Amino acid sequence: MDSDKFFDIKDKKIMIVDDDPLIVKLIEKFFKKKFNFDCTICNSGEACLEELEKNELPDLILLDINMPGLSGYDVCSKIRDDKRMHLVPIIFISAYDKIENKIIGFKLGVDDYLVKPFNMKELEVRAISLLTRIDQLIKLSYKDELTGLYNRRYFSDFMEFQISTHKRQNKPLSLIIFDIDFFKKVNDTYGHLAGDFILQGFAKEIQKFIRKTDLVARIGGEEFVVAFPDTNAESAKSKIEQLRKHIEEMTFDFENEIIKITFSAGVVEFRGIVNDTQSLLDKADVALYEAKKTGRNKIIIASN
Ligand code: GH3
Ligand code: MG
Ligand code: MG
Repeated sequence: MDSDKFFDIKDKKIMIVDDDPLIVKLIEKFFKKKFNFDCTICNSGEACLEELEKNELPDLILLDINMPGLSGYDVCSKIRDDKRMHLVPIIFISAYDKIENKIIGFKLGVDDYLVKPFNMKELEVRAISLLTRIDQLIKLSYKDELTGLYNRRYFSDFMEFQISTHKRQNKPLSLIIFDIDFFKKVNDTYGHLAGDFILQGFAKEIQKFIRKTDLVARIGGEEFVVAFPDTNAESAKSKIEQLRKHIEEMTFDFENEIIKITFSAGVVEFRGIVNDTQSLLDKADVALYEAKKTGRNKIIIASN
């Protein structure tokens, strides 16, 4: 039996939070060497929360409990309040070895608990097993099966966090909704499989034009959205304008057919007048409808 089969895991980003630099180094070195994981180091609870404000979330958090300032308990509880991170696994690694400490941890939503001094092999198998299971769970609950993009549910959770950040920090926030033009005709002419192939290809192309901190989701049949944190409507539009030109020029080769598509899009910038994702989507949808009505293959900014 190949007992390592389950452990084939790549490209993960882990966050190590501990005020003891030796422990941090030890864990970082191990996971970098063995799995080539991207490790983010935080020497305090405060540094960890600040790092998590950015939108590149880790796939796993290894968290000490006893630290000066915010404790691991405080950090765990804050993380679990943030909808973007409901499924981000957390392992406490702590010198506290009492049952009471473990009970507090699990009640706060931690996924696993290791007592220091810990065995690195044990941390490895616990961490990788957790990462693997959570990966499956994320795919089932937050991802669209056809394209691998996030789905509407995760998009809503992500936006909820972005809107609250926007209100606290007053940074710009924009959203774009796209819809492929005459997509029904593609299905009717080339078949549903060709249509699926184009949706998958289009999803890949979108990702080439956005930052890691932007979030793209498929929210309907041939409808996609991108959330652009820290971006005003003009900049969001100009990025997607590049995508529009690229898509207009490229071809999708499916079996022996060469297929071309275009898309239309509506852009909206959060201005604090509307305060939920649905209202933003509705506004973007009005602009999208305008783009469709006035000739398609264009991007229109919603008037506020
Ligand atoms: P418009 O330019 O006005 O958007 O025209 P359209 O034909 O793209 O719009 P409409 O909403 O009438 O048609 C959308 C089509 O998208 C209909 C449906 O068959 C197709 N579609 C939705 N989801 C999928 C999918 O998962 N796979 C495939 N192949 N087609 C899909
Ligand atoms: Mg369409
Ligand atoms: Mg449509």
